[in-house]
Amino acid sequence: MSNLSIGVDLGGTNLRIAAVDDQGILIEKVTLGTKVALGRDHVLNDMCDAIKRLSEKYHTRASLCGIGIGVPGIIDLETGMVRESPNLPGWSDYPVRDEIEKRLGTRVILENDANAAAFGEKWLGAGRGVNDMAMLTLGTGVGGGIVLAGHIWHGMNGMAGEFGHMTVEPEGVRCGCGNLGCVEQYASASAVMRMAKEAIASGRSTTLAHAASTDAEFSAKAVSAWSMPRLLRHFTQESRALRHRSNPVPVSTPSLRALCWAAMRDYLARLGCRW
Ligand SMILES: [Zn+2]
Repeated sequence: MSNLSIGVDLGGTNLRIAAVDDQGILIEKVTLGTKVALGRDHVLNDMCDAIKRLSEKYHTRASLCGIGIGVPGIIDLETGMVRESPNLPGWSDYPVRDEIEKRLGTRVILENDANAAAFGEKWLGAGRGVNDMAMLTLGTGVGGGIVLAGHIWHGMNGMAGEFGHMTVEPEGVRCGCGNLGCVEQYASASAVMRMAKEAIASGRSTTLAHAASTDAEFSAKAVSAWSMPRLLRHFTQESRALRHRSNPVPVSTPSLRALCWAAMRDYLARLGCRW
């Protein structure tokens, strides 16, 4: 090992810091809580202290060649500023990259966390050996990243891979980004829980109410685990129905997408979820 890089996943809940060598092999990982409530400077101090500890621990074996920080939000790549991050209040328009470079004396690259995840998959994961790929990250929100010709595709303003903020319901639920009916409002963990709770509160779904009363850890994961086999069965029936048409019509990708979306809406409506 001659070179060492440090990657930081700056989430709204967890702050993960990892040292990797130039082959991408993980040397050590540290997970801290992101103490967002204590303010930006507190989080920056925690992050810089952890980075220093890691680089000092390995400095006799490798030289630190840079730090990459993945941030959930809109990044200004030229200035290295966080423009907007709902999970990191108080970080908007702050020169994060320059501040950390000043404190640690090392090159820092700031990137949207889902873009960084997509590039990681391209380098060492499911997209290894592939030059063009897209990735969706499903969690509290819905993120995404696009890799084209081996590079992250940022688009005009750095938001090319923000699949979570595509409109799927023009008159739908208001999203944190200000838009109506974004994918994130229907497919994220928080959206799944919101819809499940709404269905239970209104009495529309006794099955979900029963699941909630018998499962102490009733979470988006539990709701998904419970509903996914039913959802897949429903999709299978829909696709069989499509195949068995006597005079099948060629189905384009957009119309197939519309069909899947309609089938999912129909299925969720049967469960008692509405929007
Ligand atoms: Zn949105």
